Formats: sequence, C-alpha cells, structure tokens
Amino acid sequence: MARMDVIGERDGWRCWLCDEVVDPDMSVNDGRGPSIDSLITERRAKKKSAGPPVERLAHRACNTGKGKVKPVVPWAEHLFVIDPAVILTSVERLSRKGGREVMARCPDEPDARQAAEWLVDRLSRLEPDLAVEADVEPGGGQFLLVLRTV
Ligand SMILES: [Zn+2]
Repeated sequence: MARMDVIGERDGWRCWLCDEVVDPDMSVNDGRGPSIDSLITERRAKKKSAGPPVERLAHRACNTGKGKVKPVVPWAEHLFVIDPAVILTSVERLSRKGGREVMARCPDEPDARQAAEWLVDRLSRLEPDLAVEADVEPGGGQFLLVLRTV
C-alpha cells in the first residue's frame, strides 16, 4: 500500500482522468477504489530511452490498464465549448515544445472565460509541472480559448 499512498498523496487523492475524489479506504477491488495507472504517452512509447511510465492515481474503473484503453481527459459537462481539443494531446505538445494551442471556441466571452478558468485549474492537477495561462481571443464572431506556456 505504501506506493499507492505516495502516489495518492501527490495527486491529492483525485483520479487523474475523471478528476473526482478517490477514497483511499475503499477496497482496491471496487470500481471506485484506488488504483495506479501507468501513463505511457505516444512519445514515450516511440522512444525507449524516455524512462519509466508516469504513475498516476486513478479509480479502478477509470484505469486505462496496459494500454488497452486510450486515456481520455474529458471536458467538464457544464462548459459551453465548440470543437474542444483533445486535452491530453494538446498538453503533451505543450510539454514537449511549449508555445500555444487553440483549445476550443466559445459563442460568447463569459463562456470562454469560464472554460479558461476550468482548464487552467484542471491542468494544475493533471500536469503540475506545466506552467500555462489561458487567453480568450475574439475571432470570427466567436471567442477562442488559447492555452500558452509561460
Ligand atoms: Zn476516475
């Protein structure tokens, strides 16, 4: 259990995929119980020298297992976003080379600001080492949600 505790503490007892609380006292055989997910990104899979996979806390039911299920970090349902980017793909690109990524379009500015706030907060847990800010930029009668490294 020691390894689980270390990873659980580091991840704040939240599931890295669904962002909901994981109960450390729940049975590891329960779908909502704690488990350790090994994130092997496409970049790491191609490059053998990239080191061991990153271990993250996940619910047993959310765990992507041994690459059987592609990990997906969902956007929150309450957000009003059009053409949302695949969060993990964008985060991986930003981690690798920095810069900026258009993450979504929103019909109005308050929606875009809400989505921007949510995304920065979400990424602070998903990828704590990646320093990003979100900008809202008007364009084409809509508002673009842009993530950039700082
Ligand atoms: Zn989960």
